[in-house]
Amino acid sequence: MKTLIQRAESTHRLSEEEILYLLQAQDADELLLPAADRVRRKYVGDEIHLRALIEFSNICKNNCLYCGLRAENTCINRYRMDEETIFSFAQKAVQYGYKTIVLQGGEDPAFTTEVWLRLLKRIKTLGLAITLSIGERPFEDYRAFKAAGADRYLLRIETTDKSLYEKYNPSMSFENRLRCLHDLKKLGYEVGTGVLVGLPGQTMRSLAKDILFFQELGADMIGLGPFIPNPQTPLKNAPAPVLGPALRVMALTRLLLPDVNIPATTAMETLEPNGRIKALQSGANVVMPNITEGDARQNYALYPGKAGAADSPLAFREKLAAQLTAIGRPISTGYGWHKKKIY
Ligand code: SAM
Ligand code: SF4
Repeated sequence: MKTLIQRAESTHRLSEEEILYLLQAQDADELLLPAADRVRRKYVGDEIHLRALIEFSNICKNNCLYCGLRAENTCINRYRMDEETIFSFAQKAVQYGYKTIVLQGGEDPAFTTEVWLRLLKRIKTLGLAITLSIGERPFEDYRAFKAAGADRYLLRIETTDKSLYEKYNPSMSFENRLRCLHDLKKLGYEVGTGVLVGLPGQTMRSLAKDILFFQELGADMIGLGPFIPNPQTPLKNAPAPVLGPALRVMALTRLLLPDVNIPATTAMETLEPNGRIKALQSGANVVMPNITEGDARQNYALYPGKAGAADSPLAFREKLAAQLTAIGRPISTGYGWHKKKIY
């Protein structure tokens, strides 16, 4: 195992069988997580890039079985921000000192192409890098959004196991998800993808394939979310989630894609009070602080107990800055673009 991890650390190549072996090895973490931390330092440095998250709508036409925003969930208070409110959050992001915003929401039909084009052009005047996380759209929309100022796009593949994907995303097709990711790459977006770790029925082999998929796609960002069962969804009785496997997938992802941006996700912090810091010490280099305020902050309820839902954006930022100082990690003042390295 030690030789395998050393080889991954120096060559950034592993076969599916080798990844599978490391995912299954009970005692791998002790060597794997520090190796990912070293690779992170060597390729992307100590700086943490912050991306301010604005959760603009919790209305969604889709029915993903794992997600609290699914259309058939009647127990959730729905909201939709208007354009002015979204713009004012973007202005706040600038005031708080952020260089990037992430606009994330359900696939809400009210957000037509025209609405996004107006918003993107307006927000772009603030000098922010803009990340969209608004789901599946036609190529022409992605092209127009890019021309209007969108720089990055987050769209997790969720799982590369086609039959599992289609079981959990009944209104969607795996081919279309792939089509979207390839379109986004073609158009020159910085593309973020990722998977849920711990979905019922997901195998370790399928997680190994997921990591190889990130390499094959040439992803610029990779967000790994431990799956957290939501009592308002059909997956409410899934086994209790644990952080370990998601951290392990993340560490292997860092070893194999050494220069990409990897967020320490909110779901990781939700599972363990120190989950975010653990992730930042096991390969991650990005945090996405939620700057959504008011009822929306509570109602964007993908899963229960979402970390930080009760904090104000400023209180969160102060707390995070102190935590990062304590582990010797400075906050970046730049845009945090993916800088490709030769390896
Ligand atoms: N609707 C867009 C989409 O699906 O790409 C963006 C918003 S969606 C809520 C963002 C991410 O939330 C999804 O990619 C999914 O991985 C994650 N998510 C949904 N339900 C979750 C759960 N129960 N536990 C952890 N993550 C979850
Ligand atoms: Fe909608 Fe995204 Fe949730 Fe699926 S994961 S129900 S597309 S918000």
